Amino acid sequence: MKNCVNDSIEARFKILQIAVRTRSALNWLDKFHSVLWCANVDGCVVGRNREMHCGNSQADRLAAEAIVVGAGPAGLTAAMSLAATGVDVLVAAPAYVPARSEADRRTTALLPGSIQLLENLGVWGTCAAQSAPLEGVRIIDDRGDLLRAPEVLFKARELGLACLGANIPNAALNAALNAAATNASGLRRVPTAAAVGMEIGPDFLEISFAEGGKARGRLAIAADGRNSTIRAAARIGTRTWSYGQVAIAAVFRHSRAHANVTTEFHRRPGPLTVVPLPGDASSLVWVETAAEAKRLAALEEKAFLVELSARLHGLLGDLGELSPRAVFPLMGLQAEYMARARTALVGEAAHVIPPIGAQGLNLGLRDAAYLAECVGAARAAGDDIGADATLEAYRASRTPDILSRTISVDLLNRSLLFDFLPMQALRGLGLHLLANAGVLRRLLMRSGLDAPGDAPRLMQPGNRHAPLDAGAATGQSGLR
Ligand SMILES: Cc1cc2nc3c(=O)[nH]c(=O)nc-3n(C[C@H](O)[C@H](O)[C@H](O)COP(=O)(O)OP(=O)(O)OC[C@H]3O[C@@H](n4cnc5c(N)ncnc54)[C@H](O)[C@@H]3O)c2cc1C
Repeated sequence: MKNCVNDSIEARFKILQIAVRTRSALNWLDKFHSVLWCANVDGCVVGRNREMHCGNSQADRLAAEAIVVGAGPAGLTAAMSLAATGVDVLVAAPAYVPARSEADRRTTALLPGSIQLLENLGVWGTCAAQSAPLEGVRIIDDRGDLLRAPEVLFKARELGLACLGANIPNAALNAALNAAATNASGLRRVPTAAAVGMEIGPDFLEISFAEGGKARGRLAIAADGRNSTIRAAARIGTRTWSYGQVAIAAVFRHSRAHANVTTEFHRRPGPLTVVPLPGDASSLVWVETAAEAKRLAALEEKAFLVELSARLHGLLGDLGELSPRAVFPLMGLQAEYMARARTALVGEAAHVIPPIGAQGLNLGLRDAAYLAECVGAARAAGDDIGADATLEAYRASRTPDILSRTISVDLLNRSLLFDFLPMQALRGLGLHLLANAGVLRRLLMRSGLDAPGDAPRLMQPGNRHAPLDAGAATGQSGLR
């Protein structure tokens, strides 16, 4: 009986792969995708727009080569990146609710590689108009020490670039990602309240859902955030730490132009950063001690703006139109492994760093692009996409980048917190050098923008929507 089910899954996979790999058959595939998958007599229910439901019965079972759990920005980007390499992908996550996403008032500063990736996936074109270019980053020493370090301005022009990235509201980015994912070929979505468990066998894994259904695949992608269920099911431990600080996030308008320059005030309780948005508006990430953040978050809007204005020293003129404020306790998390046991972690399931220096989601998007690169290479070689060798290649490609960002953000934050004199002298000297030595400034800018080593193909210009690997035509990695 078991073999019978496996044979039927294998047969369906082969049909699906041949169809996916024949570009002229893509329209046909879109039309009959649901019918093909419903041929699984286990009773999956297929809705319109290739949305599948995991049903209520234990017998319900879906299948795909890769199953992405979690549809946050890292999960959707990973799913689309994998689909772009020709992988058949299932995304299992709670249904997208625009109103809930719009309640997230945060913005994300994206670096050029992330923008290129989103452009190649057909996402950026639909949301770019809601972003502001970041032409420079200014650092102001506002610790109030006796010896004040000079202001440092990193300008995109110094690197021959038009901008160092772009800042976009999370709601706009998530809407564009969801729209693109709905239309991406090779990608299906299973709305579920939650994935609740995972069994890992030698050749497959099987993920179970709160509603009682299951999905089987070769590779699981844990994109279910910092409290990842899938990471725990793969027995990947974590190291977590907290900073005792809290970030207040909001959006506000101002009378003086920001000139597309981000400004970071380095203050004793933590950095206060204002990041340009279109027009005379900026987003705020204000790091404070927990007690002070609680006081500030509870202030009336007008009183809060008075306090903010004082911390900005008049940089943006008169302030107004403040959005609701949200608070985020600062913490760090590092997964023991980026991948093991047929499971790859992306985004905050793998790493959480404080919102300083705009690195968090940029790291998550790089996870997505590198994972697609490693899986694409495995497919091209006819290998199992969930095998240890594929996971090892992914681990090796991500560890140096994640470690170096985690350490540098941690050091920067801690260097502000401690009054240890030699540390302050070192920090001041560093800022002096950066203010006066163009070579150092450019070096730091470059290392802040790029991951070490070669960029994955999906982060390079000119790979728009292209299936990335020869494996898409070899028919090698079916679900056996
Ligand atoms: C104030 C602030 C400012 C920031 N600014 C920046 C910035 O400028 N630049 C930058 O790069 N980063 C920034 N970040 C970091 C960035 O916001 C995060 O890295 C990013 O949101 C993480 O995305 P994710 O997809 O990994 O996780 P999430 O957004 O947490 O997504 C996880 C998804 O998984 C789903 N899920 C959870 N459990 C399950 C389950 N069991 N089954 C199915 N689905 C599940 C959840 O519903 C959720 O949709 C900032 C963070 C903060 C707090």
